[in-house]
Amino acid sequence: MEKINFVWDSHYRCNFRCPYCWFDKNWEEMDKLNKYPPLSEMIALWERLYKMYGECHLMVTGGEPMLYPNFIELIDAISKWHTVKVTCQLSGDMFTFARKLNPERVRLDMNFHPLETKLEPFIRKVLYLYKYGFKGGVCYLAYPPNMDKIKYYDDEFKKHGIVMALAAFWGEYNGKKYPDSYSKEEREMMLPYLGDLDRQKYHLEGRKTKGKLCRAGQIYASIKADGTVTRCGPLSNKPFGNIFDKDFKLFEKPMPCEAEICPCDEYKWIVDEER
Ligand code: SF4
Ligand code: SF4
Repeated sequence: MEKINFVWDSHYRCNFRCPYCWFDKNWEEMDKLNKYPPLSEMIALWERLYKMYGECHLMVTGGEPMLYPNFIELIDAISKWHTVKVTCQLSGDMFTFARKLNPERVRLDMNFHPLETKLEPFIRKVLYLYKYGFKGGVCYLAYPPNMDKIKYYDDEFKKHGIVMALAAFWGEYNGKKYPDSYSKEEREMMLPYLGDLDRQKYHLEGRKTKGKLCRAGQIYASIKADGTVTRCGPLSNKPFGNIFDKDFKLFEKPMPCEAEICPCDEYKWIVDEER
Protein backbone atom coordinates (compact mmCIF):
# COMPACT_ATOMS: atom_id res chain seq x y z
CA MET A 1 0.00 0.00 0.00
CA GLU A 2 1.26 3.49 -0.84
CA LYS A 3 2.20 5.49 2.23
CA ILE A 4 -0.57 7.84 3.29
CA ASN A 5 0.23 11.41 4.25
CA PHE A 6 -1.75 13.44 6.76
CA VAL A 7 -1.33 17.11 7.61
CA TRP A 8 -2.58 17.79 11.10
CA ASP A 9 -3.33 21.35 12.29
CA SER A 10 -2.68 20.37 15.91
CA HIS A 11 -4.36 23.51 17.27
CA TYR A 12 -4.78 27.21 16.55
CA ARG A 13 -2.74 28.78 19.33
CA CYS A 14 0.60 30.50 19.15
CA ASN A 15 2.74 32.65 21.42
CA PHE A 16 3.83 34.74 18.39
CA ARG A 17 1.76 37.31 16.53
CA CYS A 18 3.30 37.48 13.07
CA PRO A 19 1.38 40.04 10.97
CA TYR A 20 1.42 37.72 7.95
CA CYS A 21 -0.03 34.73 9.79
CA TRP A 22 -3.09 33.02 8.21
CA PHE A 23 -4.78 33.44 11.59
CA ASP A 24 -3.84 37.06 12.29
CA LYS A 25 -6.86 38.95 13.73
CA ASN A 26 -8.74 35.65 13.84
CA TRP A 27 -7.14 33.87 16.78
CA GLU A 28 -10.18 34.10 19.07
CA GLU A 29 -12.48 32.63 16.45
CA MET A 30 -9.99 29.87 15.58
CA ASP A 31 -9.54 29.01 19.25
CA LYS A 32 -13.12 27.73 19.32
CA LEU A 33 -12.06 24.89 17.00
CA ASN A 34 -9.34 23.63 19.34
CA LYS A 35 -9.94 20.23 20.82
CA TYR A 36 -7.69 18.64 23.40
CA PRO A 37 -8.67 15.01 24.04
CA PRO A 38 -6.67 13.18 26.72
CA LEU A 39 -3.24 11.97 25.65
CA SER A 40 -4.36 8.32 25.77
CA GLU A 41 -7.18 9.04 23.28
CA MET A 42 -4.84 10.82 20.90
CA ILE A 43 -2.42 7.91 21.05
CA ALA A 44 -5.28 5.45 20.44
CA LEU A 45 -6.39 7.52 17.42
CA TRP A 46 -3.01 7.19 15.70
CA GLU A 47 -2.83 3.52 16.60
CA ARG A 48 -6.25 3.02 14.94
CA LEU A 49 -5.00 4.78 11.79
CA TYR A 50 -1.92 2.54 11.84
CA LYS A 51 -4.14 -0.54 11.94
CA MET A 52 -6.21 0.82 9.02
CA TYR A 53 -3.50 2.20 6.76
CA GLY A 54 -0.15 0.95 8.02
CA GLU A 55 2.72 3.36 8.57
CA CYS A 56 1.66 6.87 7.48
CA HIS A 57 3.54 10.15 7.33
CA LEU A 58 2.15 12.81 9.64
CA MET A 59 2.99 16.47 9.07
CA VAL A 60 2.17 18.42 12.20
CA THR A 61 1.55 22.12 11.98
CA GLY A 62 -0.58 24.70 13.82
CA GLY A 63 -0.53 27.38 15.33
CA GLU A 64 2.56 26.34 17.20
CA PRO A 65 2.54 22.55 17.76
CA MET A 66 5.02 22.71 20.65
CA LEU A 67 2.28 24.42 22.73
CA TYR A 68 -0.09 21.46 22.28
CA PRO A 69 -0.53 19.66 25.64
CA ASN A 70 1.93 16.77 26.19
CA PHE A 71 3.24 17.31 22.69
CA ILE A 72 6.59 15.56 23.11
CA GLU A 73 4.98 12.49 24.74
CA LEU A 74 2.36 12.38 22.00
CA ILE A 75 4.89 12.56 19.16
CA ASP A 76 7.07 10.01 20.91
CA ALA A 77 4.12 7.57 20.90
CA ILE A 78 2.93 8.39 17.37
CA SER A 79 6.41 8.05 15.91
CA LYS A 80 6.52 4.38 16.90
CA TRP A 81 3.87 3.77 14.20
CA HIS A 82 4.27 6.67 11.79
CA THR A 83 6.99 8.97 10.54
CA VAL A 84 6.42 12.56 11.61
CA LYS A 85 7.43 16.02 10.47
CA VAL A 86 6.89 18.93 12.85
CA THR A 87 6.72 22.50 11.55
CA CYS A 88 7.52 24.86 14.38
CA GLN A 89 9.17 28.15 15.27
CA LEU A 90 11.52 26.81 17.99
CA SER A 91 10.34 29.03 20.83
CA GLY A 92 9.38 25.90 22.82
CA ASP A 93 11.55 23.48 24.76
CA MET A 94 13.50 22.09 21.81
CA PHE A 95 16.18 20.81 24.19
CA THR A 96 13.81 18.19 25.66
CA PHE A 97 12.42 17.58 22.17
CA ALA A 98 15.96 16.80 20.93
CA ARG A 99 16.77 14.48 23.82
CA LYS A 100 13.48 12.56 23.92
CA LEU A 101 12.51 12.01 20.28
CA ASN A 102 14.00 9.75 17.65
CA PRO A 103 15.49 11.71 14.72
CA GLU A 104 15.13 8.62 12.53
CA ARG A 105 11.34 8.95 12.88
CA VAL A 106 10.83 12.67 13.44
CA ARG A 107 11.91 15.51 11.15
CA LEU A 108 11.65 19.24 11.57
CA ASP A 109 10.74 22.26 9.46
CA MET A 110 12.03 25.21 11.39
CA ASN A 111 10.41 28.56 10.66
CA PHE A 112 12.38 31.68 11.47
CA HIS A 113 10.12 34.67 12.24
CA PRO A 114 12.42 37.68 12.67
CA LEU A 115 9.70 40.01 13.95
CA GLU A 116 9.13 37.71 16.94
CA THR A 117 12.38 35.90 17.57
CA LYS A 118 16.09 36.67 17.83
CA LEU A 119 18.64 35.08 15.54
CA GLU A 120 21.23 33.93 18.08
CA PRO A 121 18.99 31.79 20.34
CA PHE A 122 17.25 30.43 17.25
CA ILE A 123 20.56 29.26 15.76
CA ARG A 124 21.60 27.81 19.12
CA LYS A 125 18.48 25.64 19.15
CA VAL A 126 18.94 24.51 15.54
CA LEU A 127 22.52 23.44 16.30
CA TYR A 128 21.43 21.62 19.46
CA LEU A 129 18.85 19.69 17.41
CA TYR A 130 21.50 18.85 14.78
CA LYS A 131 23.78 17.58 17.53
CA TYR A 132 21.09 15.06 18.45
CA GLY A 133 20.78 13.92 14.85
CA PHE A 134 17.75 15.95 13.74
CA LYS A 135 17.76 17.15 10.17
CA GLY A 136 15.90 19.91 8.41
CA GLY A 137 16.39 23.40 7.09
CA VAL A 138 15.16 26.79 8.09
CA CYS A 139 12.35 28.53 6.28
CA TYR A 140 12.01 32.30 5.95
CA LEU A 141 8.98 34.07 4.55
CA ALA A 142 9.57 36.64 1.79
CA TYR A 143 7.22 39.11 3.49
CA PRO A 144 7.70 42.46 1.72
CA PRO A 145 9.13 44.42 4.72
CA ASN A 146 11.49 41.50 5.49
CA MET A 147 12.88 41.16 1.97
CA ASP A 148 15.95 43.35 2.51
CA LYS A 149 17.25 40.98 5.21
CA ILE A 150 17.15 37.78 3.14
CA LYS A 151 20.80 37.87 2.17
CA TYR A 152 21.93 38.81 5.68
CA TYR A 153 20.05 35.95 7.36
CA ASP A 154 21.09 33.47 4.70
CA ASP A 155 24.77 34.39 5.30
CA GLU A 156 24.35 34.03 9.06
CA PHE A 157 22.71 30.61 8.74
CA LYS A 158 25.35 29.46 6.25
CA LYS A 159 28.13 30.27 8.73
CA HIS A 160 26.66 27.49 10.88
CA GLY A 161 25.96 25.04 8.04
CA ILE A 162 22.21 25.72 8.13
CA VAL A 163 20.33 25.80 4.82
CA MET A 164 17.69 28.50 4.48
CA ALA A 165 14.78 28.27 2.02
CA LEU A 166 12.21 30.92 1.21
CA ALA A 167 8.46 30.72 1.08
CA ALA A 168 6.60 33.32 -0.98
CA PHE A 169 4.06 35.53 0.75
CA TRP A 170 0.44 34.96 -0.31
CA GLY A 171 -1.59 37.87 0.96
CA GLU A 172 -1.91 41.65 0.96
CA TYR A 173 0.66 44.18 2.05
CA ASN A 174 0.29 47.96 1.64
CA GLY A 175 -2.73 47.48 -0.60
CA LYS A 176 -0.83 45.18 -2.97
CA LYS A 177 -1.57 41.52 -3.58
CA TYR A 178 1.25 39.00 -3.29
CA PRO A 179 2.85 37.00 -4.85
CA ASP A 180 1.65 38.90 -7.98
CA SER A 181 3.21 42.16 -6.77
CA TYR A 182 6.78 40.90 -6.35
CA SER A 183 8.92 42.94 -8.76
CA LYS A 184 11.07 41.26 -11.43
CA GLU A 185 14.19 41.94 -9.32
CA GLU A 186 12.58 40.48 -6.21
CA ARG A 187 11.56 37.34 -8.12
CA GLU A 188 15.08 36.90 -9.47
CA MET A 189 16.54 37.34 -6.01
CA MET A 190 14.09 34.78 -4.56
CA LEU A 191 14.51 32.05 -7.17
CA PRO A 192 17.67 30.37 -5.81
CA TYR A 193 15.96 30.02 -2.43
CA LEU A 194 12.77 28.53 -3.82
CA GLY A 195 14.24 25.20 -4.89
CA ASP A 196 13.26 23.27 -8.02
CA LEU A 197 11.07 24.55 -10.83
CA ASP A 198 7.93 23.00 -9.35
CA ARG A 199 8.40 24.72 -6.04
CA GLN A 200 9.13 28.02 -7.81
CA LYS A 201 5.94 27.69 -9.83
CA TYR A 202 3.56 26.91 -7.03
CA HIS A 203 5.10 29.50 -4.75
CA LEU A 204 4.89 32.31 -7.25
CA GLU A 205 1.86 31.39 -9.37
CA GLY A 206 -0.25 28.54 -8.00
CA ARG A 207 -1.82 26.09 -10.49
CA LYS A 208 -5.22 25.96 -12.14
CA THR A 209 -6.46 22.53 -11.17
CA LYS A 210 -10.29 22.42 -11.29
CA GLY A 211 -11.57 19.11 -12.69
CA LYS A 212 -8.22 17.33 -12.69
CA LEU A 213 -8.16 13.93 -11.03
CA CYS A 214 -6.38 14.20 -7.72
CA ARG A 215 -5.43 11.74 -5.01
CA ALA A 216 -5.92 14.30 -2.22
CA GLY A 217 -8.53 12.63 -0.02
CA GLN A 218 -7.26 9.18 -1.02
CA ILE A 219 -3.60 9.05 -0.04
CA TYR A 220 -3.38 12.53 1.47
CA ALA A 221 -5.68 14.47 3.78
CA SER A 222 -5.70 17.55 5.97
CA ILE A 223 -6.96 17.28 9.55
CA LYS A 224 -8.17 20.42 11.30
CA ALA A 225 -7.85 21.02 15.04
CA ASP A 226 -11.47 19.95 15.65
CA GLY A 227 -10.84 16.69 13.78
CA THR A 228 -12.64 17.57 10.54
CA VAL A 229 -10.83 16.15 7.55
CA THR A 230 -10.62 17.81 4.16
CA ARG A 231 -8.86 16.72 0.99
CA CYS A 232 -6.40 19.63 1.13
CA GLY A 233 -5.93 23.28 2.15
CA PRO A 234 -7.77 24.86 -0.82
CA LEU A 235 -10.83 22.68 -0.04
CA SER A 236 -10.73 23.41 3.69
CA ASN A 237 -14.41 24.45 3.63
CA LYS A 238 -15.47 21.03 2.29
CA PRO A 239 -14.91 18.43 5.02
CA PHE A 240 -15.57 14.79 4.18
CA GLY A 241 -15.31 13.28 7.65
CA ASN A 242 -13.94 13.60 11.14
CA ILE A 243 -10.83 11.79 12.30
CA PHE A 244 -12.32 11.21 15.77
CA ASP A 245 -15.21 9.28 14.20
CA LYS A 246 -14.48 5.55 14.44
CA ASP A 247 -15.99 5.03 10.95
CA PHE A 248 -13.70 7.60 9.31
CA LYS A 249 -12.31 6.45 5.97
CA LEU A 250 -10.30 7.99 3.16
CA PHE A 251 -11.57 7.95 -0.46
CA GLU A 252 -11.00 4.71 -2.28
CA LYS A 253 -9.92 6.36 -5.53
CA PRO A 254 -8.76 9.71 -6.97
CA MET A 255 -11.52 12.31 -7.37
CA PRO A 256 -11.78 15.47 -9.54
CA CYS A 257 -10.33 18.64 -8.02
CA GLU A 258 -13.04 21.07 -6.92
CA ALA A 259 -10.81 24.09 -6.34
CA GLU A 260 -9.96 26.76 -8.91
CA ILE A 261 -6.32 27.06 -7.91
CA CYS A 262 -3.90 24.88 -5.99
CA PRO A 263 -1.52 27.43 -4.45
CA CYS A 264 0.83 25.16 -2.53
CA ASP A 265 2.67 21.90 -3.01
CA GLU A 266 -0.50 19.85 -2.58
CA TYR A 267 -0.85 19.93 -6.41
CA LYS A 268 1.61 17.01 -6.35
CA TRP A 269 -1.31 14.68 -5.58
CA ILE A 270 -2.83 15.32 -9.02
CA VAL A 271 -2.84 12.16 -11.13
CA ASP A 272 -0.42 12.29 -14.06
CA GLU A 273 0.25 16.01 -13.73
CA GLU A 274 2.43 17.37 -16.50
CA ARG A 275 5.48 18.99 -14.98
S1 SF4 B 1 4.70 31.53 14.35
FE1 SF4 B 1 3.42 30.70 12.73
S2 SF4 B 1 1.44 30.26 13.73
FE2 SF4 B 1 2.58 31.62 15.07
S3 SF4 B 1 1.89 33.69 14.53
FE3 SF4 B 1 3.75 33.27 13.34
S4 SF4 B 1 3.02 32.45 11.39
FE4 SF4 B 1 1.30 32.30 12.87
S1 SF4 C 1 -5.38 19.72 -7.05
FE1 SF4 C 1 -4.87 20.78 -5.17
S2 SF4 C 1 -6.75 21.86 -4.65
FE2 SF4 C 1 -7.32 20.29 -6.11
S3 SF4 C 1 -7.96 18.52 -4.87
FE3 SF4 C 1 -5.79 18.27 -5.41
S4 SF4 C 1 -4.68 19.13 -3.69
FE4 SF4 C 1 -6.78 19.89 -3.56
